[in-house]
Amino acid sequence: METSVFSGSCLCGKVKYTVATHIDAFYFCHCEQCRKITGSAFASNILTKSAEVNWISGFEWLKRFDYPGERIFTKVFCTHCGSGMPYLNKQANALVIPADSLDHAPNIKPNHNIFWADKASWYESGIAAPKCAGFSE
Ligand SMILES: [Zn+2]
Ligand SMILES: [Zn+2]
Repeated sequence: METSVFSGSCLCGKVKYTVATHIDAFYFCHCEQCRKITGSAFASNILTKSAEVNWISGFEWLKRFDYPGERIFTKVFCTHCGSGMPYLNKQANALVIPADSLDHAPNIKPNHNIFWADKASWYESGIAAPKCAGFSE
C-alpha cells in the first residue's frame, strides 16, 4: 500500500501538522452532525489507516469534542479559529483528516457521498446556482 504524506494547518496558522498514512477513502459526509458542526452542506473528509499525527505546532490549541449521542461522531478543532483538524476515531482504527485542513490538494478525488439520505434540502439547488468567481454582483 502506498503511503502519502499530508501536511496541513488551521486558518489562523497556530496549528500545523504532518502525517504519513495510507488513504482508504475520501468522502463528502452529508449527515446531520457534519452539517451542524460545519454550518454547511457537508464535511469533506479523508479517511486513512490509523496513524500518529505529528503536531508541528499548536497542540495546546486543540480541543476534542465527542458527540454524546448514540452515533459515533467526533470533531477536533483549533480553539482559536475553529478549523477542523485530524483525529483518530473513537475505535482508534482510522484517522479522519478534514480535506481542507491540508495545505495542498490531495492527489485523490472524493469517491463517496455518504449519508446522502440526510443531505440538506437545499444542497442540489445550491450546486445548480449560478457560479461567480468572487462575490456575487
Ligand atoms: Zn487556528
Ligand atoms: Zn457526517
